[in-house]
Amino acid sequence: MRSVRSLPHILYNWAVVGLGFWLLAHTFPLLDLNYGRELLLLIALAVLAEWLAVLLPQGQLSGGFAIIFATFLVYGPVSAVWVSGLSSLIGQGVVNRGNPLRTTLFNAAQYVLALLGANLLYQLAGGLPDRTLVLANIPLLAVFVLAYFILNQTMVYIYALPARQGNSVFQWVDALRWDGLTYLVTVPCGLLMALLFGKIGIYGMVLLFLPVLVTQFMLRVYVNLELANRELRVLYEVAKRLGGSLKLDEILALVLRETGHMIKFHTGIIYLRAEDDDDLYRMGAANGPHAELLKDSTVRRGDGFLGLTAESGDAQLVNDTRIDVRTADDVGLTQVHRSMLVVPLVAETEVLGLLVLGDKRPGFFEDKHMQTISIIGGQTAVAVANVQLYRKLEQTAITDGLTGLYNYRYFFQRLTEEMDRANRYGCGLALVMLNIDYFKKINARYGHLVGDAVLARVAKLIAGEVRGCDLAARYGGEEFAVMMPETGPTEAMHVVECIRLAVRETLFEFDEARFQVRISAGVAAYPVHAGDLKGLLGAADAALYQAKEEGRDRASFPIT
Ligand code: GH3
Ligand code: MG
Repeated sequence: MRSVRSLPHILYNWAVVGLGFWLLAHTFPLLDLNYGRELLLLIALAVLAEWLAVLLPQGQLSGGFAIIFATFLVYGPVSAVWVSGLSSLIGQGVVNRGNPLRTTLFNAAQYVLALLGANLLYQLAGGLPDRTLVLANIPLLAVFVLAYFILNQTMVYIYALPARQGNSVFQWVDALRWDGLTYLVTVPCGLLMALLFGKIGIYGMVLLFLPVLVTQFMLRVYVNLELANRELRVLYEVAKRLGGSLKLDEILALVLRETGHMIKFHTGIIYLRAEDDDDLYRMGAANGPHAELLKDSTVRRGDGFLGLTAESGDAQLVNDTRIDVRTADDVGLTQVHRSMLVVPLVAETEVLGLLVLGDKRPGFFEDKHMQTISIIGGQTAVAVANVQLYRKLEQTAITDGLTGLYNYRYFFQRLTEEMDRANRYGCGLALVMLNIDYFKKINARYGHLVGDAVLARVAKLIAGEVRGCDLAARYGGEEFAVMMPETGPTEAMHVVECIRLAVRETLFEFDEARFQVRISAGVAAYPVHAGDLKGLLGAADAALYQAKEEGRDRASFPIT
């Protein structure tokens, strides 16, 4: 699987980094190192703001702009450039939140560019070179702030474009709203800091920044509450709607969608245990850019990271697939995702499936995610088990327990429908009755259990010979029926002969007993032998009687 980053995006990334750092170096000679100590203090404060940033699903918020703005007002654009560039680099470099180096470099560089760009506009608009806080200069400072905001948002927006593919635009609006809100606090605060600097120097600035940090802390608490609330809402939605659905596709889609509302992961997949193989899990639903590619993917119990998770039944959280021993040598999904969260869908100790979430960023999932998703996993498992039980009951209601063929009731219902269709569209319909010869003797000689086994075996032979569109059923005790839509007498007779010969050529072996079985069949076709359902049933019966009369081990048409 390819990375979603395109060449223009990579070029953009490194162009911003190159230009930003070139300008940073270029402005160094203009830096007034007499204020070195003060600038270092301001950088330290900005780093602190970065570390205490409020983490949102869409990004992070910090009061750092108050420092940058105050530095700009007091010490000028070059100092502000250095304070913002260095604090971003140190802050994100030391407390790395799972971002790759290119992102850390990009962030520092885009701050430098936003600041220099905003300063340029401020000057072009006629802003006072000494940035005095007189009334006439205030609108021009507003130009500076606005330009900085727009440049900063635009550069980050473009940078984040590939990662946002497939996600809704509302997240971006959300991030913009939160970011805008911080400016409402940090701009006045920066102004005040600059004013206070005039009165009591650098320590005034430090003192005033403390309320910003406190505000930040409060926001952090609020955001955490908001996120917890969102999780509860998702849990509530899932619980409410899972109970009512008996459609597997709907259930799986709902779970992926609601989980996605809670955590903006890159790829989400649900594997479900195959009905014909307890050790195999097939993809049931997937979302994310790789969904199409994953359509036929499977997991074998005990094989690889996912297979072992299915075997253990315990949820697994991997912060970095490249270094984690569980995934380092794994293949498949763990190769494309740095973070993985896998929750087995367990109902009554049975692992019915796996809910797999992956993201390209390391350290993306947290313990609290694992807890919430595990709850969802439990609910999903119960819903899936319900559907499977319902399907099983539905299947049981229409199949014959001994032979696995359809039962009489279902066969008759389908035959009636097919007859209607044949009538309406003028197509053919063949009906075959099959009966084991001298079955009473088999019972008498080998016992009823062997008789039962013979019935099951003959049923299997019949099922093996009929075509995909035919429908075979156990019609009565030792009598079978096959319905063949859009089939004429000759074609039907051909299939029946294949069945008869298959039974004839089979050696039935049960413990000591070894014997052969013969069957007789009656073949009737609409509209050749009969014009309605009753007539067709009678004709097939008569044909079977005919075959028995003629000496058994044969197939006959009715005498017309
Ligand atoms: P023919 O060649 O004329 O068909 O003779 P037959 O002995 O096969 O037919 P008959 O109708 O006389 O007997 C059918 C027997 O099948 C009677 C019954 O005991 C037996 N039978 C019906 N259902 C079952 C079943 O589910 N299991 C077993 N073991 N025997 C069954
Ligand atoms: Mg019989």
